[in-house]
Amino acid sequence: MSMKSMTVFCGSSTGNDPIYMEVARELGQKLAHEQITLVYGGAQVGCMGAIADACLAANGNVLGVIPEKLKHVEIAHPGLTQLHVVKSMHERKALMADLADGFVALPGGAGTLEEWFEVFTWAQLGYHQKPCCLLNVNRYFDPLIAMLDHIIEQGFMKPAYRDMIIIASTVDQFIDALKCYAPRHKAKWG
Ligand code: AMP
Repeated sequence: MSMKSMTVFCGSSTGNDPIYMEVARELGQKLAHEQITLVYGGAQVGCMGAIADACLAANGNVLGVIPEKLKHVEIAHPGLTQLHVVKSMHERKALMADLADGFVALPGGAGTLEEWFEVFTWAQLGYHQKPCCLLNVNRYFDPLIAMLDHIIEQGFMKPAYRDMIIIASTVDQFIDALKCYAPRHKAKWG
């Protein structure tokens, strides 16, 4: 499946370890080189700003989607290829989901997890067949992956859904996995 655009969910903070900002920049640059449009939350702050800056600097296309109310708090990025200003968080997520051929979360906070889990649950339910990926920088997502295993162990999720998630440790691994991605969805209630 050839990917033309990718939604990246990531922190509006920088994180404590410099590796988080570094990998955000690396991914931004890589998406530009692969001619994959970056779709993201439109902010200028934290890892979100870093990925956008790096992608733009490498001549990539960057689409931002930001709610009116957050334009000043998260500081809307002024130099994007396109900035969509929307009314609500729900509109933001819907547009970010529609605009992209796949989703990846980099380390981030509650917002990042919320956005990623929404698209993952939509995949489970068969609303889309786009890849849902975790870029496990610095093993940041290990506790989350352990939680998913716990969910399965306790009978609240089928292993097949955990297996749908593409987990990569590096940007290169992530890009390689995308190139091999083929939808193999079993809808939850199918
Ligand atoms: P965080 O990971 O908490 O730094 O947030 C990353 C991004 O997710 C920021 O742009 C937040 O505004 C956004 N965000 C937080 N909560 C939500 C939500 N419920 N729906 C959509 N975006 C959100």
